[in-house]
Amino acid sequence: MFYEDLSEYTYQHEDAFGDRESFHELWYRPAYPRLNIGWLETGRPYSTGRLSTAFVEKLKAVQKVQRMNVCLGVHECGLCPETSAPEGNGEIRIPGEAGIAYAAPFLITHYITAHGYRPPQVFIDAVLAVDLDAWTTARWPDVPFPWIPVDAERLLE
Ligand SMILES: [Zn+2]
Repeated sequence: MFYEDLSEYTYQHEDAFGDRESFHELWYRPAYPRLNIGWLETGRPYSTGRLSTAFVEKLKAVQKVQRMNVCLGVHECGLCPETSAPEGNGEIRIPGEAGIAYAAPFLITHYITAHGYRPPQVFIDAVLAVDLDAWTTARWPDVPFPWIPVDAERLLE
């Protein structure tokens, strides 16, 4: 599926975060607005350009610790030849300025490294601003995302 960068995300009503060491999961209907980033498709032009290694490494590190919307379907890269297209399961959420969260598919790192995609600068800044130490040390019932509402529903096993 294709969504314009910085358009409003409406793909899933709920945001669901999982614990990376168990099957615990929580979900809720977000009060924060979500904006699409990096939902690329064949035949749709997208911005390209060089990115700093620091940004790419940070994005990869975020994807190692955050598990979100993983049960909602696998996306295959539509830009690669069919025989070698990687699949990505889930999405990522990055907190941004003014209470906005950026919503990207898990394949965003692949789009960047294999297809030269350059996300908007606001997203790059938001990734660089992530408190990676706090996200890495977060343990259930905390998850690596700062805006989990207290009334989120939780699956405990
Ligand atoms: Zn690809």
